[in-house]
Amino acid sequence: MQKTVGILALQGAYQKHADILSLLGVQSMLVRRPEHLHDCAALILPGGESTSISLLIQKYELAPAIKKLAETRPVMGVCAGMVLMASEVNDTHVQPLALAPMRVQRNHYGRQLHSFTAELELAFDATPYRAHFIRAPAVESIGNDTKILACVKNQPVMVQYGQHLALSFHPELTHDTRIHQYWLKHVKQQ
Ligand code: GLN
Repeated sequence: MQKTVGILALQGAYQKHADILSLLGVQSMLVRRPEHLHDCAALILPGGESTSISLLIQKYELAPAIKKLAETRPVMGVCAGMVLMASEVNDTHVQPLALAPMRVQRNHYGRQLHSFTAELELAFDATPYRAHFIRAPAVESIGNDTKILACVKNQPVMVQYGQHLALSFHPELTHDTRIHQYWLKHVKQQ
């Protein structure tokens, strides 16, 4: 049976992940309730507004099911999704899911106006990657077992904890599918 990747679809930029996965021949489904996670081999926490997504996660009682899935299955957190994956966040309006041992600062790179693109050196590929940052968070500190895969000005913007990936930028906003492909290797390995 083909593996299905869940995409948390409570708020934010979830649809474009479905488009990229479909381009890569991977089946996906939108996740809005805990029972939807039963059929998922992995999960994407998309960008958006981490405060709103956090409230909706509480409203629909999704946190225990997401944490359970993350014990054995890969999660990719993008921007607001990275904030949600953290163990600590500098904003009490967000209840992070603690899927990776890292402290994250919301809106580190400023407001919408300060969105930018940056050429990244990826730890797993020699060709540079143009990344899109939108009100992006920064990783302030990480646990020992967390690998840094890319940085902007010495600040980690892509980290890996086991099979989980957390990104400050939006890989669904470019035609370059290498980030999704890198993470999907973990999905296929299961
Ligand atoms: N600044 C947003 C937050 O912390 C994230 C922005 C994004 O996902 N593009 O909620």
